[in-house]
Amino acid sequence: MAEPVTLAHALRHARQMGLERIDAHILLLHLLGRPHHDRAWLLAHDQDTLTAAQWAQYQALCAQRLDAVPVAYLTGCKEFFGLHLQVDARVLDPRPDTETLVEWALELLPAAAPCRVADLGTGSGAIALALQSQRPQAAVTAVDFSADALAVARANAQRLQLPVQCVQSSWLAGVPGVFDLIVSNPPYIREDDPHMPALRHEPRQALTSGRDGLDDIRTIAAQAPVHLAAGGWLLLEHGWDQAEAVQAILRGAGLQGVVSRQDLAGQWRCTGGQWRDAAACNPAMPTYSRTVK
Ligand code: GLN
Repeated sequence: MAEPVTLAHALRHARQMGLERIDAHILLLHLLGRPHHDRAWLLAHDQDTLTAAQWAQYQALCAQRLDAVPVAYLTGCKEFFGLHLQVDARVLDPRPDTETLVEWALELLPAAAPCRVADLGTGSGAIALALQSQRPQAAVTAVDFSADALAVARANAQRLQLPVQCVQSSWLAGVPGVFDLIVSNPPYIREDDPHMPALRHEPRQALTSGRDGLDDIRTIAAQAPVHLAAGGWLLLEHGWDQAEAVQAILRGAGLQGVVSRQDLAGQWRCTGGQWRDAAACNPAMPTYSRTVK
């Protein structure tokens, strides 16, 4: 009979296989049914032992992680803006970078007055649900072309009891109504980007968008004006080197006050602009942004 495997041994093994320490910890906590943030518990229990079945499962999880499967797909969940989302290979793994977009959106949305928000390419529903959780009075529409993705978003909305409305559409094509804010984290990676193999487990249609990565952003910018209320904002996430191109696209679509914003890593990660016409603006929507580039 082999020696029982301690948690310390399992973690050492995972590190020797090449896993990041945080991934090794989260996968072990997940396997043991512990909260994923409870890394101190692992240290305090590092002489606990795994059953043979748990050890086999842990090695299998580590092998999948080394094959670039996102940790969120292995654990089935991801925390985003304080919400516990269920995620799987039907949707993009929500990134912390995208919280930048949520924070910007929240600065623009009124604290209590009614407002209409659309999240295009919602995937797991991360952005739409984060906004709805912070702005209970907002009417939030979550849009995705993928029925699979919408099923994930809908299940998250239901579980979190957030009244987001889910609509299947190619961007705004089949979405009725106008919005005070349209947000999107669309696919924006170039088809031939060398990072694509590392992202091979995530839905390709959520990641790449044509030769320069900007096809979907061009479509959204072209569709947005007729769906924006006077004074409404369009905010987009994009790649670290796309801010100037996206600014030009938004200006070309007639948006004003176009500015970009950096993420926590200092990358120009989001660009937005405001739609104005002769009609009176929604007084609840601010006409400024503190971010400049
Ligand atoms: N930021 C993601 C990445 O580079 C891509 C997300 C997207 O295409 N919207 O991995």
